[in-house]
Amino acid sequence: MSDLIKSWVTSANSAQTQFPLNNLPYGVFSVGETAPRCGVAIGDLILDVATLEDVGVLSFGGTLQSASWNAFMALGPRAWGKLRNELTQMLKDGSAQQSELELHLVPMADAQLHMPFIVTEFTDFYASKHHATNVGTMFRGAENALPPNWLHIPIGYNGRASSVVVSGTDVTRPHGQLKGPNDDLPRFAPSARFDIELEMGAIVGQPSNGPISVARAFENIFGYVLLNDWSARDIQAWEYQPLGPFQAKATATTISPWIVTTAALEPFRTSTPERETPLLSHLHEPGPMLYDLELEVSLTPGGGAESTIVRTNYAEMYYSAPQQLAHHTTSGCPMRVGDLLGSGTISGPHRESRGSFLELSWGGKDPLQLEGGTTRSFIEDGDLLTLKGAANGDGYRIGFGNCSGTVRPAIDLP
Ligand code: MN
Repeated sequence: MSDLIKSWVTSANSAQTQFPLNNLPYGVFSVGETAPRCGVAIGDLILDVATLEDVGVLSFGGTLQSASWNAFMALGPRAWGKLRNELTQMLKDGSAQQSELELHLVPMADAQLHMPFIVTEFTDFYASKHHATNVGTMFRGAENALPPNWLHIPIGYNGRASSVVVSGTDVTRPHGQLKGPNDDLPRFAPSARFDIELEMGAIVGQPSNGPISVARAFENIFGYVLLNDWSARDIQAWEYQPLGPFQAKATATTISPWIVTTAALEPFRTSTPERETPLLSHLHEPGPMLYDLELEVSLTPGGGAESTIVRTNYAEMYYSAPQQLAHHTTSGCPMRVGDLLGSGTISGPHRESRGSFLELSWGGKDPLQLEGGTTRSFIEDGDLLTLKGAANGDGYRIGFGNCSGTVRPAIDLP
């Protein structure tokens, strides 16, 4: 485990900050009426790298002056390493460039954060064995919980890039076609079983055209964000056979505002759990490709107290993002810079480690107890849901920034 790299930005040296010099996550920010531009989080400040490129301190072909990190990602791993090295040297304790850089730091509290990259396409997976077993048991019974393919291939579906939003964006409860087990006919109404899915999102930073290996897939991933795949369970239950989720997952997907790079996460690599059956060779991992990330979800009812409702770890996953990406390309499917891969809901073996209300309340049969004596089976209007995540080093931690959204009441349809 590496140690904290000390910075002349004093707030970056606190054991509590999510953004020490070891992290250097990439976001897009604006202050007041200024145009959104690329920035890097350091302690409680944002380094304005767009302006630093404008004045010639950094030189990456103008890519840092755009309102997303896509153009920079397209430059490839050598540029990724070069920027990280240059930022580390400039922000290190004792750097000769301190006084020059101090002119380009903005308090994070004054900034508005925007989508850090343009989502080219969005694919979501189903890769936690605990989650798949729990959901399968509720939807199909314990005997048919895990589909026969589950231990052999990463299961996924093609989602919608257009509905991915940044943390802080409100989410409107969707309408949909619903049919409960005791209903004779379907009806059209607001979802009464609106839910979260606690996930990580992997960002593809290099294109591919044809099948790639798991090792190559690892190199093509630029970084990770926290991801909440909002899900309407009542819509899902009626629509999902035979082609999988559709409108149940199309309302919104929220991501955290900072892209944490694979370079920052390198000291926290960990292996997938023991395989129950050997994987076919195209899914073999040449090394540990998951990360030890402690994850939490909290719920704050409108005007109420915050309750932590989930505590789990990304290391629970059965398939890693490089395995999912490699599998995605086996058909010849081209992958592009800015493609986003959702990990699938991250659930562990215990009740508190389940990453959705569907599992936490067991389909509503066993409501959650919250601070202040209230209960929840699914999300209610006005609820603020927040995902948090961190890799914990020795005396420092690597955070993602919160991934939050408040659910607003359904709007009457025209
Ligand atoms: Mn999902």
